[in-house]
Amino acid sequence: MITGKNYIGNSLSAKGNITYKTFNPKTNTNNENVYTEATSQEIQEAVNLASEAFKEFRTISGAKKAAFLNAIADEILALDDALVNVYMSETGLPEGRAKGERGRTVGQLRTFAKLVEEGSWVEARIDPAQPDRTPMPRVDLRKMLVPIGPIVVFGASNFPLAYSTAGGDTASALASGCPVIVKSHPMHAGTGELVALAIQKAAEKTGMPNGVFSNLNSSGIEVGQELVQHPKVKGVGFTGSIRGGRALFDLAGKRPEPIPVFAEMGSINPVILFPKALETKAESWAKTYASSITLGTGQFCTNPGLILGIKSNDLDTFISTLSDEIVTIAPQCMLHPNIHAAYTNNKAQAQDQNNVTTVAAITETVTENYAQQAVAVVDGKTFLENETLHEEVFGPFSLIVKCADAAELEAIVASLEGQLTGTIISEENEVSQYDAIVQALSDRVGRVIFNGVPTGVEVAPSMLHGGPYPASTDSRFTAVGRDAIKRWVRPFSYQDWPNELLPNELKNENPLQILRLVNDQETKEAL
Ligand code: NAP
Repeated sequence: MITGKNYIGNSLSAKGNITYKTFNPKTNTNNENVYTEATSQEIQEAVNLASEAFKEFRTISGAKKAAFLNAIADEILALDDALVNVYMSETGLPEGRAKGERGRTVGQLRTFAKLVEEGSWVEARIDPAQPDRTPMPRVDLRKMLVPIGPIVVFGASNFPLAYSTAGGDTASALASGCPVIVKSHPMHAGTGELVALAIQKAAEKTGMPNGVFSNLNSSGIEVGQELVQHPKVKGVGFTGSIRGGRALFDLAGKRPEPIPVFAEMGSINPVILFPKALETKAESWAKTYASSITLGTGQFCTNPGLILGIKSNDLDTFISTLSDEIVTIAPQCMLHPNIHAAYTNNKAQAQDQNNVTTVAAITETVTENYAQQAVAVVDGKTFLENETLHEEVFGPFSLIVKCADAAELEAIVASLEGQLTGTIISEENEVSQYDAIVQALSDRVGRVIFNGVPTGVEVAPSMLHGGPYPASTDSRFTAVGRDAIKRWVRPFSYQDWPNELLPNELKNENPLQILRLVNDQETKEAL
């Protein structure tokens, strides 16, 4: 089923001579299939086709788009073990994780299908003409959200399904009416191709225009750079490192016509331990955090990389229990030797900083590509002064900061870069004493968690997955949940446009029966 070729609309193409293989980190060997990187000509073909497809796809009804999205979900499920096995061979992740992530991916597609089938998401606003208004008559104005055009999607290595080929960015962009060109992640090119095949089959079965979806292979950054600079590309969805996201954001900003780049990037997800919570539950929270830090080999963007508390015996109990606990957890495989090498180097760099003490670490030799989890401690003053300690170590590592007092804790929180999440561990009657700290944390993050762990991102309308830069490049949007669709649309107004020429969403009769704002009142009534 895997061809190693590029999917340009519904054609397969492999014109280039740069080839590569994916890697199985568990067996420490290359996988068999060979992938051919897309050439500049193939990039042109995919973007031109997407641009043509947009002319039709932008007008396709919500019901038809829903059928397409549901068909993608069905085709992904129909891949069954073939997909699960390739996923595992390219990531070292277990079967349960593969199936869980597949369920999430399918669930996201069906959520967007439901949203666009219902149709009210376009935020239709109608202010009918008032010809008799004095001193000036009012014109007829109608507004709704419309898709912006072909979108390029970059997925992250750590979510080959849910944040990749048919992940949240692709599902939300297709739902909005934008064609998608995926720049396939080189580490899971096989998983990506199988999902691309599912999308292509779904597109053909549901009569979508050719070019509504393409999947381009690449082993380096050039294909992605060329795509982002292509004048017919109108937006970018990116999930990955701060360095990658920022590079693409800058590239898009330098285009003659700059375009939006919605990059969801790294985060250290600060966790604040308030004193009373530790008085009673230091040990139990330490055990919970040993699991959270090592979950998925620490390869989650919501991994708790920074734990902040005020110096006390109870904080010491938390640290010693966490240290004892984390080394009892069996080391696990990382996604790829490169990620393993980056983890090892970045962890060592943090551990080697002045005044940093490693309090727990797996020191015995582990299997190739397996992570040796570690926890380190530093004082608040050093942390404040040393920016290296604020950087993400992608993998199972957490730094605990012992603050001198609440004022230092607040100063540290205020000094942090933007984050996806912030967590408060507190007794309920305690948190109000620390309003300033909670406020400082809220200013720095996209989501605050009370007495829990940051790992685990529920897909729900009320989820905000994003945050102030560099957690994301635009804190006004979410990458998870139905509002993710808003990244790919723009508001568009019609003035005095004849009723029969208006899109169905704005016609007097309200044929779609959607909820609209008419004369400032929400209603499903016809005009
Ligand atoms: P990555 O190295 O940034 O790669 C992501 C994609 O971007 C790859 O396809 C990569 O292509 C491409 N890329 C990277 N730098 C580029 C550049 N300068 N120009 C053009 N393309 C570029 O990230 P990763 O290792 O896959 O994922 C791990 C990171 O993702 C972690 O930092 C994690 O925190 C973050 N993450 C964030 C979220 C979130 O929702 N916020 C979710 C998951 C992961 P090549 O591989 O071909 O270079």
